[in-house]
Amino acid sequence: MDGQVMRQARAKVNLTLDVLNRRSDGYHEVEMIMQQIDLFDDVHIRRTSGQGVVLTCSEPSLPIDEGNIAYRAAMHMIEHFGLNTGIHIHIEKRIPVAAGLAGGSTDAAAVISGINDLFGLGLSLEEQMMHGLALGADVPFCILGGCAVARGIGEKLTPTRGLENTWLLLVKPNFGVSTKAVYEALAIDAIAQHPDTEAMKRALLEWDLETIVENLVNVLEPVTMQMHSEIGDIQTLLYQHGALGVLMSGSGPTVFSIYDTYERAIEAYQRIQLHYPQSYVVRTYNSTV
Ligand code: ATP
Repeated sequence: MDGQVMRQARAKVNLTLDVLNRRSDGYHEVEMIMQQIDLFDDVHIRRTSGQGVVLTCSEPSLPIDEGNIAYRAAMHMIEHFGLNTGIHIHIEKRIPVAAGLAGGSTDAAAVISGINDLFGLGLSLEEQMMHGLALGADVPFCILGGCAVARGIGEKLTPTRGLENTWLLLVKPNFGVSTKAVYEALAIDAIAQHPDTEAMKRALLEWDLETIVENLVNVLEPVTMQMHSEIGDIQTLLYQHGALGVLMSGSGPTVFSIYDTYERAIEAYQRIQLHYPQSYVVRTYNSTV
C-alpha cells in the first residue's frame, strides 16, 4: 500500500534580474533569466496510513510545520485533490538557506511533482506549475527547470537556451538575507543599471561567453551590497582567482562566478573555501530544453 518517490530538488541562479514595477498588491513585476544548477536537496515523499503531513529535515534550523513551504505544498495537494491519506516528507538539505538560490521554492516544486507521480494524478507540467504558483512566485520555474526567461511575478516562463555544461563556483557568506527586506529597500526609480534581457538571451543562443559575462546584471545586487559590503569583497576575491564573470543570485547573498573549465573552478574553490567554507563547485543543469 505504501508507495514512495524521491526527487532531486535543484537550486537556481539568476543570470539577469530586473524589477519593472511594484504592483498595488505588493508583488513586484520582474524580468529575469533563471538557470537551474546541479546543487540539490533530496526530497523523499512517502504515503502513510495516517492522516496529514509529517515532515522531517536534516537541517534543524528549518521549521517542520506550516512554516516550511514543502509542508504547505503537501497540504495544498491533499486539500485540493481530497487525498485521504497521510504523507511523510523527508528533506535532506544541501542548498544553503535564505541564500538567493530558491531552496524553499524547489522543495515545494519537488513535493508537487512527487505527489503527482505518487498518487497518479496525471497533471500536466502546466497544471503542476499552476499549483506551484499558489505556493510562491519561483515555484513554477523550479517545476519547469532548465533555463527560462521569467516575467510577471516570475510565473510567466519562456524556456530558452541556457548556460550549458558550465562550471560555477557559488560562495555563500555566513549570513542569510530576507528577500522581502531587499525588495522593500529597492528604489525602483533610482535603479542605475537595468539588465538587457534580450542581449543576454541572444548571447546565450549564440553561445557568446564574452557577451554573456558582460550582461550579468542583477538590480538587487547594489541593494543587498549596501546592507552587506562583504558581497563586494567576495566578488573582488573571485575576480582575483580567475572568474570570467561574477553576479549575486536573486536577493543574495550568494555570489556565483563563471569559469571556462572545471580545473579553473576547482582551483578558485580551493583558495576561496579557506575564507568561505560554504563554497560549492556546481554545473549548470539543462535537461528540459
Ligand atoms: P529565493 O531565492 O526564492 O528568494 P532563498 O533561497 O533566498 O529563496 P530560501 O532558502 O527559500 O530562500 O529560504 C527563505 C526562508 O524560507 C527561510 O527563512 C526559511 O526559514 C524558510 N523556509 C521554509 N521552508 C523552507 C525550505 N524547505 N527550505 C529552505 N527554506 C525554507
